[in-house]
Amino acid sequence: MQFAFRTFGRGAHPPASKFTANVPLAEFDAPELLRVPLSQHIGAPAVPVVEVGDTVAAGQPIGESGGFVSARVHAPVSGRVTAVKKGVTPTGAQCVHIEIENDFEGRTAFLPPLDDPTPDMIRERVRECGIVGMGGAGFPTHVKLAPKTAPEFFLLNGAECEPYITCDCRLMTERAEEIVRGARLMAKAVGAGVALIGVESNKKGAYAALEKACGGADDVRPVLLRTKYPQGAEKQMVFALTGRRVPPGGLPADVGCVVDNVHTAYAVARAVDMGEPLISRAVTVGGGETGAPGNFFMPVGTPFSFVREKTRGERSDEDIVKVISGGPMMGVAQSGLDACVSKTTSSLLFFGAKESAATSPTQCINCGRCIRQCPMKLSPRDIEKAVVAGDFPRTEELYVTDCMECGVCSYVCPAKRPLVQAIRLAKKTLKERRK
Ligand code: SF4
Ligand code: SF4
Repeated sequence: MQFAFRTFGRGAHPPASKFTANVPLAEFDAPELLRVPLSQHIGAPAVPVVEVGDTVAAGQPIGESGGFVSARVHAPVSGRVTAVKKGVTPTGAQCVHIEIENDFEGRTAFLPPLDDPTPDMIRERVRECGIVGMGGAGFPTHVKLAPKTAPEFFLLNGAECEPYITCDCRLMTERAEEIVRGARLMAKAVGAGVALIGVESNKKGAYAALEKACGGADDVRPVLLRTKYPQGAEKQMVFALTGRRVPPGGLPADVGCVVDNVHTAYAVARAVDMGEPLISRAVTVGGGETGAPGNFFMPVGTPFSFVREKTRGERSDEDIVKVISGGPMMGVAQSGLDACVSKTTSSLLFFGAKESAATSPTQCINCGRCIRQCPMKLSPRDIEKAVVAGDFPRTEELYVTDCMECGVCSYVCPAKRPLVQAIRLAKKTLKERRK
């Protein structure tokens, strides 16, 4: 079967702006003080299991799962716990953070490697190591690896379709063997016969590295996809790779697929083969107001203010108009630099006036672009109107919960209507009313 350059309907073509695509991954300096959030995943926050004054080693649990859908949290460095207190996360929410003073001794508390693990052993190791979906959603991976029925396909998302972000591209290029190993382990855990890795056509180096690592095997292989936003969204990835449509309100499992991200596969390989919990990740630092942009392995808990300090270069903080955690399409604008790197932080972007698109909204001119280009075939214009009118039941009739918040509608809207913000508000309000 040949899937080359497959894609999905609708979508958009924002400028790729992958300025750091050729900058190799580098280890970031570890800060003196780290603040590790206990809620870095979908589900219940982790519960602290250390107290102020405790000494910890890198990889030692500091937060235990707070429920079935939750994830363990580990110390990213060795040192001493100096505070257990609330702080802000990159999403703007508040949660308890464990503050650790780094002793720079590099003591670790990793688990023993697993030799030829069974599916149950893989799931348990993934749970022990606190692995979550690293593409942004943060869904606990041990739960995803326990589907009710075995899927036909295990799909890895290597599209990285968001502008600016290049950390997955570098990871696929430089650590392809580990990603392929992780893909095999995850496919084994869910019982899938085939693992496919979807890579956008603007990452030919990454594709070549994965192809080499697969060595012509039948059980796992990369597939080139057309470069289009949001190619990396779960339902669009399923369609592009298999031709199957996830039904409205449904999940990839409904059409025999499980989807995860390439960085997650890398983390799974390290957890199984090296016993390493998820305590660091690759992060792209970019944007026009970054003096030293690049792709860096950073410990979870690294303060954004420290990231800025180390990558400011000759730039001035006064020229920053916007700071985004994640990409410009789906990322979260930061109100300051108080948050810290989490398991799902793919990038930190510092934008000046030029890059910050004009955001002053004008009246909707009923051009219909947002409707024509929505990959989910929704009507963002009408949803926004219903939100403005306070008619939230109407937003439900317009299938607002099917929106994946990809940002295409806002991007193409000539009137710069705050469509995604309205959609987020509708979803939040409906959720609260249901409770
Ligand atoms: S309505 Fe949702 S899914 Fe459709 S383009 Fe807008 S953000 Fe994307
Ligand atoms: S794209 Fe903007 S201006 Fe056009 S219909 Fe949608 S909301 Fe209105």
